[in-house]
Amino acid sequence: HLTKEFPVDSGVFASRMAKKVSAVQDVSFDIFPGETFGLVGESGCGKSTTGRCIMRLTHPTDGRVVFDGKDVASMHKKQLKAVRHDMQYIFQDPYASLNPRMTIGEIVSEPLAIHNEMDSNEERIDYVRQLLDIVGLNPEHINRYPHEFSGGQRQRVGIARAFALHPKLIICDEPVSALDVSIQAQVLNLLGDLQKEYGTAYLFIAHDLSVVQHISDRVAVMYLGNLMEWSDWCTLYAEPYHPYTQALLSAVPVPDPDVQRSRERIILAGDPPSPIDPPSGCRFHTRCPIAQEICSREKPEMREVAPGHHCACHFAKPFPIQGSSIEL
Ligand code: SF4
Ligand code: MG
Repeated sequence: HLTKEFPVDSGVFASRMAKKVSAVQDVSFDIFPGETFGLVGESGCGKSTTGRCIMRLTHPTDGRVVFDGKDVASMHKKQLKAVRHDMQYIFQDPYASLNPRMTIGEIVSEPLAIHNEMDSNEERIDYVRQLLDIVGLNPEHINRYPHEFSGGQRQRVGIARAFALHPKLIICDEPVSALDVSIQAQVLNLLGDLQKEYGTAYLFIAHDLSVVQHISDRVAVMYLGNLMEWSDWCTLYAEPYHPYTQALLSAVPVPDPDVQRSRERIILAGDPPSPIDPPSGCRFHTRCPIAQEICSREKPEMREVAPGHHCACHFAKPFPIQGSSIEL
């Protein structure tokens, strides 16, 4: 039941003291060891805020984040440090997330220093060189600075840093969306290989269903701070129940041109409403092609519509998406 509100106290809302941004509202899901859980939605829908609450980079307003049986949301500093050893974050922007004044060796070894691992300098340098090698960088470049690397290489540095402590969970916050398409697949493959090797779980945040399709075990769709639907990825892509997921999927191009031509594209009217004053009832009702009167009055409960498949819609029903499944 994770909830995060931000106060709005500047600009045009200065006079309206009580206003809040409802960034994440009553969001519940679980992530199993070693799996990849994809979290998808348009920008500003609360995905990163959810990720940041899980690591407590920001403090949830309400709800709990249970990691290995302990509630991260209510931990004090010392407990939090221990948990952060096992949880790491890969940031969206490899240009902003690496300190330009530190060498990549210093960047990658920083988590080891924070957690007092490996006292001897030689041991640490040796280990960082191994890590650089594992993520496909030249260990000889350990003393170079971030500006000497391309975007894809910088993201590899961020990945090496995240893996330095062999965490149980990594929150990958749109780790490839700032990269060229030709580089995206390489970085996704690297993340997949590392997961196989170390059994790390990923919360993989993306604004695009096609990015998470190939790497996720399960996928959740988020809209305006609410979860709309989640299930294993095959089911979600082949037979979504929620009108929003259906619209997102209908916009993903498919490889077969005949299928692509014959497909119905669901176009949503307008932009997502503001999270400062979100719509009543179902937050999607102002854009939903099948909304009824009840939708603006009553918020639909998240319910299990098929085994392992959850959907929050008063009129949830399966909607096979032609051609969107699955190149096995
Ligand atoms: Fe659309 Fe109503 Fe379902 Fe919301 S509850 S997605 S408005 S049909
Ligand atoms: Mg984000």
